[in-house]
Amino acid sequence: MRNRTNWPEAMRPLLKKYQGKKHPLEFENLYQLIVVVVLSARSTDAYINSIAPKLFAVFPNMESLAAVQPEALFPYLAGITNFANKAKWLTAIAARVKTDKQIPLSLEKLIELPGIGRKSANVILRGAGKKPEGVIVDVHVLRVAPRLGIVKEMDAGPMEERLMKVLPPDEWEAGMAMSFLGREICMPKPKCDSCLMNKVCLYYSRLKK
Ligand code: SF4
Repeated sequence: MRNRTNWPEAMRPLLKKYQGKKHPLEFENLYQLIVVVVLSARSTDAYINSIAPKLFAVFPNMESLAAVQPEALFPYLAGITNFANKAKWLTAIAARVKTDKQIPLSLEKLIELPGIGRKSANVILRGAGKKPEGVIVDVHVLRVAPRLGIVKEMDAGPMEERLMKVLPPDEWEAGMAMSFLGREICMPKPKCDSCLMNKVCLYYSRLKK
């Protein structure tokens, strides 16, 4: 299926559907975006949205985070997976970046910061309105992309590499589009009959046999 499907063409309806749709994480500026993205790894976006306002009331910018030790963040991170390391990463990022104005906006520079891998960097660049430098591969994309048949790879790194080869750069937003599809339709128990990708989907074609 992967070889027979023209994926750049097949992806267009999905890209159109989710074009410009805001990430479920809530943020008002680049500083807040970085913080919520770092906090959200292996935690739900809804939970991060619920705790972040209290954190931002006390720590409104990089300068305020740079001035404290990780432990100062602990009272605001209750219930977050891996919160102690995340507090350490956030204060280390702030110590390095120093001010909001100096937050880097390239994939290469972002992944040099503690706690930020390619997925997070891709999400940050998208949230900042920058051109994609890679394809977002999150937990939803890890499920959706192999089901569609656009990739066979099951791990994030090789999967992103494959997606960047199969799709042209102006379609790299497909990562977030697949993520939205995974949140709304292609959930662990997929709603294939109401999915706009079912005509090209490998999983669906197998279901129909
Ligand atoms: S057709 Fe089904 S398995 Fe395929 S992408 Fe849509 S919901 Fe997922």
